[in-house]
Amino acid sequence: MALIQERRLVTAIPGPASQELMARKRAAVASGVATTMPVFAAEASGGIVRDVDGNQLIDLGSGIAVTTVGVSAPRVVEAVAAQAAAYTHTCFMVTPYEPYVAVAEALNRLTPGDHEKRTALFSSGAEAVENAVKIARAHTGRQAVVVFDHAYHGRTNLTMAMTAKAMPYKHGFGPFSPEVYRAPMSYPFRDGVKDGQVAAERALDVIDKQVGAANLAAVVIEPIQGEGGFIVPADGFLAAIARWCAENGVVFVADEVQSGFARTGAMYACEHEGVVPDLVVTAKGVADGLPLSAVTGRAAIMDAAHASGLGGTYGGNPLACAAALATIEIIEADGLVARARELEALMLDRLHRLAAADPRVGDVRGRGAMIAIELVDADGAPDAALAKRLASACHAEGVIVLTCGTWGNVIRFLPPLTISDDLLHEAFDVLTTALQEA
Ligand SMILES: *Cc1c(COP(=O)(O)O)cnc(C)c1O
Repeated sequence: MALIQERRLVTAIPGPASQELMARKRAAVASGVATTMPVFAAEASGGIVRDVDGNQLIDLGSGIAVTTVGVSAPRVVEAVAAQAAAYTHTCFMVTPYEPYVAVAEALNRLTPGDHEKRTALFSSGAEAVENAVKIARAHTGRQAVVVFDHAYHGRTNLTMAMTAKAMPYKHGFGPFSPEVYRAPMSYPFRDGVKDGQVAAERALDVIDKQVGAANLAAVVIEPIQGEGGFIVPADGFLAAIARWCAENGVVFVADEVQSGFARTGAMYACEHEGVVPDLVVTAKGVADGLPLSAVTGRAAIMDAAHASGLGGTYGGNPLACAAALATIEIIEADGLVARARELEALMLDRLHRLAAADPRVGDVRGRGAMIAIELVDADGAPDAALAKRLASACHAEGVIVLTCGTWGNVIRFLPPLTISDDLLHEAFDVLTTALQEA
């Protein structure tokens, strides 16, 4: 790795060079594009981001669950450089190329289920979610789409309608796409329902009565919700919803944009529940930061869209495909799915100890290297102010953490799977001290 893997603070956060760049950003970049950290990146490798002042930060965000194999993984850099020298773009819809087909073959192999599959590639997570809906509508001849409380599916017009949270994602940006309906999610910490079957019946009653199976093209769900607060549904919830979809000819779509690709200690989070979705949406972790997304699923459903009904100028760009193939090779050769489970054990141990000593940590949850704490006040109500103070204190001490959750009171941990135990322990030492002082 190009950077020595250590945290190092040489100025206050932010330092003078970052402050200067922030002033330029304010003058040049639309203010709707906000940043978590007050510092600008100069270089990054493995689990470290170095800022323009020379501070080295431990990365527990992975650019929002993207750089799973470590940012600028050398094998990815090599593959992308070789591809850039060969051709950067021809457009797959004009003169196709082999790396696109190879990525489709790999995703057909890696997604849950051994039925015949097809894949289509796109550029962003939201674009792939939209295409999953297009495909489900073409296959079923129906229009309605069901999503869940706390869901996040993106920022385009259709996916804004599918996303739950108004501020900041939807506020003032309507009108939204029609035929999107919301069902209650299983959220054991807040709804107290530990039985997934019971939680599913509550959701299915809403779906059946307010939408009606005969009108419904697809149910779209994150197997572990990301932006909504790393909510892991009660055991059996996903399976019951999937079973109802199969019985009613509804396409069950797993939005695994954040939970997928080795992140949770399985290639896809659905596998923990033994659920085989009809369609799976992949993005974030798939190509180490190059823009790539995919819809993968049953051949009969995927092939329902007519020729030229799917595509896009950049979808399955060759550089992104080369990065994805190298990423897959690293995950498999280096056993990163198993490594995610080791990171889970380390993080859960640290966080359960934190929770035992501090009642403000109301819940510790997640799978693999997708772990979070939910912060509460003395009455158990969401404490967003504490989450904000805690995240800022970590940032000031050189640890990148992200908040999330409908109430903004969740701190999530998404380290690259290649991070060392020592670096991770150091980050959690910082967090522990910051919580005591917050
Ligand atoms: C990030 C995310 C998206 C949107 O992906 P973009 O690449 O930002 O468009 C969709 N679904 C989930 C679950 C996500 O976490």
